Amino acid sequence: MSTRSNGRASKENHSKDVLAPKTEHYEFGGPLGAAFVTSTVPFFSYALYFVCNEQAGCSILPKSPALLFKAMKQGVVDSLFDYEGWAIYFAWYAFVVLCWAILPGRTEEGLSLRTGAKLKYKTNAFATLVASFGLSAGWILLKGPAAYTFFYDHWPALVSASLSNSLIQAFYVYYASFQQGKLLAEGGNTGNTLFDWFIGRELNPRIGSFDIKTFNELRPGLILWALLDFSCACHQYISLGGRITDSMALVLIFHTFYVVDALYYESAIFSQMDITTDGFGFMLAVGDLTWVPFVYSLQARYLAFAPVDLGFIATAAIFASNFTGYYIFRTANAEKNDFRKGQNKKNLQFMTTKSGRKLLTSGWWGRSRHPNYFGDWIMALSWSLPTGFNTPITYFYFCFFVVLLVHRQRRDDEACQKKYGKDWDVYISKVPSRIIPYIY
Ligand code: NDP
Repeated sequence: MSTRSNGRASKENHSKDVLAPKTEHYEFGGPLGAAFVTSTVPFFSYALYFVCNEQAGCSILPKSPALLFKAMKQGVVDSLFDYEGWAIYFAWYAFVVLCWAILPGRTEEGLSLRTGAKLKYKTNAFATLVASFGLSAGWILLKGPAAYTFFYDHWPALVSASLSNSLIQAFYVYYASFQQGKLLAEGGNTGNTLFDWFIGRELNPRIGSFDIKTFNELRPGLILWALLDFSCACHQYISLGGRITDSMALVLIFHTFYVVDALYYESAIFSQMDITTDGFGFMLAVGDLTWVPFVYSLQARYLAFAPVDLGFIATAAIFASNFTGYYIFRTANAEKNDFRKGQNKKNLQFMTTKSGRKLLTSGWWGRSRHPNYFGDWIMALSWSLPTGFNTPITYFYFCFFVVLLVHRQRRDDEACQKKYGKDWDVYISKVPSRIIPYIY
């Protein structure tokens, strides 16, 4: 059994069938789906900015689609020449890499790979977050909020830079995946170049001990999302003459809390589908580096130029709804993570499958097959509600998330069906709801 940690499985005892099994069926609609997502993700990342900003307002039906399209084309071209924006983005990315390299962190093992090996990871994402927040707070305190609007002011260039970063990384990992001895993702070796580049060929691409997938998944995009929010709040603070609205405060609290939570529980990521099953290709790169920071921060960016005062009752109701969602999300994930680590603190019921692996049948995982997604949905809605009802565009994230998690649940169901066979049918008969307990 190999325990090497550089992503290259040991050549001596693993056959091609183990390292690079041929993928027999496409996910995500195959090459057509890959082409669709590859073009629409960059399009929407820009479009959400150009349709919804200080000058354009935030209307779903622009007065002149032709003029909007022209402005968007010009805006994208202009963003390519905003060198300051590009410098800010790549300085940020370099800073996060530097933090990974120099900040202290425990070395933890991931789950077993197909080869039996376990990769080692340096877990200092939370320390990186503390350093980033600390520097930002120091900057705002010393230089004033006006000096922290540079993210808000260079938005399109930051999007362009992050898209380039995603492309560069996707090409790099695709070509690196052809080196001998690489462990490929079971879904990423179809032989179709576009699809494999998109979905990710290699399971855990690494440069030395630097794990490209987990690094991008947690640090540069998630932390940047919070910093973009801070920048939007600074813009609102300046334009309102020295205050931020209750709605902006809610969005900041919710988003920051989500990011802090994800990074604080860094090692929980090792058991997630993205890490255990999916390769790293353009889909994950652009999701982590562009989509998460620039699309998820839309509510804060909207409130920066269209402030909303909610009042106490609405603020309290939205606050309660978010933390109800969080409670479900966190307790469901904790029940499963503890159980997978061999602990059953709540004495939950379970069934033992033929493979020897156990499945929870009570607690949250007895109410639906993905209760954690249910909690995530409640949070997603709570993040949009503070923007009020003047535009549906700020509900884009919630709508997208509903589609994403419905699709993800089906993918996971299929994967579990393959893994557990008839036992999965038994589990489904005990727990018929997919996501929303007793409803869906
Ligand atoms: P999950 O954490 O939901 O894990 C699914 C796996 O859990 C299954 O493959 C199976 O794996 C195991 N499992 C399923 N049923 C049971 C059971 N009854 N008992 C024990 N184990 C079971 O996967 P995700 O990676 O999709 O989600 C992780 C978190 O990330 C979620 O909270 C989700 O909402 C969130 N998320 C957030 C996104 C965002 O953009 N904000 C995007 C996607 C996810 P096995 O049996 O092999 O252990």
